Amino acid sequence: MSDYVSSLIAEVKAKNPAEPEFHQAVQEVAESIGPVLDRHREYGQARILERIIEPERVILFRVPWMDDQGRVQINRGFRIEMNSAIGPYKGGLRFHPSVNLGILKFLAFEQVFKNSLTTLPMGGGKGGSDFDPKGKSDNDVMRFCQSFMTELYRHIGPDTDVPAGDIGVGGREIGFLFGQYKRLRNEFTGVLTGKGLNWGGSLIRPEATGYGCVYFAAEMLASRNETLAGKTCLVSGSGNVAQYTVEKLIEMGARPVTLSDSSGHVFDEAGIDREKLAFVMELKNVRRGRIKEYADRFKGATFTPADLRLDHNPLWAHRADCAFPSATQNEIGGRDAVHLLKNGVKLVAEGANMPTDLDGVVQFVDARILYGPGKAANAGGVAVSGLEMAQNSMRYGWTREEVDNRLRLIMKSIHQACVETAERFARPGNYVSGANIAGFLKVADAMLDQGLV
Ligand code: NAP
Repeated sequence: MSDYVSSLIAEVKAKNPAEPEFHQAVQEVAESIGPVLDRHREYGQARILERIIEPERVILFRVPWMDDQGRVQINRGFRIEMNSAIGPYKGGLRFHPSVNLGILKFLAFEQVFKNSLTTLPMGGGKGGSDFDPKGKSDNDVMRFCQSFMTELYRHIGPDTDVPAGDIGVGGREIGFLFGQYKRLRNEFTGVLTGKGLNWGGSLIRPEATGYGCVYFAAEMLASRNETLAGKTCLVSGSGNVAQYTVEKLIEMGARPVTLSDSSGHVFDEAGIDREKLAFVMELKNVRRGRIKEYADRFKGATFTPADLRLDHNPLWAHRADCAFPSATQNEIGGRDAVHLLKNGVKLVAEGANMPTDLDGVVQFVDARILYGPGKAANAGGVAVSGLEMAQNSMRYGWTREEVDNRLRLIMKSIHQACVETAERFARPGNYVSGANIAGFLKVADAMLDQGLV
């Protein structure tokens, strides 16, 4: 680590205590950007990196609501408006009990670079709440969403800040949030993405993150003259990203063998096929049940409960060719990376945001496997959100094929940008450097053009 990066990290830690995920995300980017700052003194003089790590605005608010039993509940709401140099703030809302300022700042920070890579004009933001939708009735969720939006609506708008979904925020929550925004503003605009198809949503948006991640993986493999056909794949999570990752893997002839939730993981040696995936989708999206039921339903599949005392996740210890972490941050630690590499994994494509800790990242990069970091590999979701915004502005909707083709082209161009940029800055094959530098350059140049704001 250079002196500049270590003093920057020390300052970030001192100024933002108790935000380890944010420190981690900044460190990874700052280490990649070193060669750029050496070559382009103007970024250093304008203190671009120091400005990028400081959010343009942080909104923190109380969300009071009444549950089905008539009890008063209080949650905390956040919106981090990180950077608007290349477009309106854009990024999801996460509803999960683990949500805090540091986690949302890391997500917003990552989003700035990811959105820049998509080729679309979107700045970076993120938000959410420590509200846990799990086990809540639809009415509880609606009352919470309405209270959340009653404050958030002042800060967002189709040309200012356009939130979307993330963990715990799917079609149901976006619907309730949109309904309340419309009521308060008396406006029907594209203020949220991930909307329902008959009220402004885009085809392929639900599929986009998972599909895009698999397209990115296919591009990485193609650079080594390989394809996904016949490859055994480990997938974690069983939510939106995991489901559509599995769907596209099946379509491309791969064999996904795992899925998980916070209670544990299922392993199905025979492979998760279309029929089994349909069961998972019904289980998770309609009945909102636990992944363990998969092993009860399908012969030969096993369930391993999560054990937080372990220093590793047994999901990553199965033999496989590829891994698609699609649950949450830091789900692949140093020991998991050792297991993955030892058991033959040659490709990791991150559907989740920052699912690999710094130790794991170093191991993947040093082993020279095809390692696609989340900023690049999972950018398909926000890219199609950008396409949803474009369709809303035109008051027109593209066909499924048209959106899917655009998604494919965007993933291809992100892949190309990573490869070319990594080569240009003497890090050939290093997608982490490629993604961080390519994402940074566009935002940095826009910030220089716009002066000290
Ligand atoms: P989701 O539909 O809510 O699914 C999340 C999945 O991950 C669930 O299976 C959940 O299990 C599991 N999970 C969440 N927190 C966990 C934890 N602390 N430990 C173990 N398992 C956990 O969310 P999603 O939209 O698929 O998002 C998954 C990841 O992709 C996140 O990192 C998100 O930021 C990233 N991402 C999403 C999008 C998008 O378009 N949705 C785009 C880019 C990146 P439980 O149900 O048991 O909690």
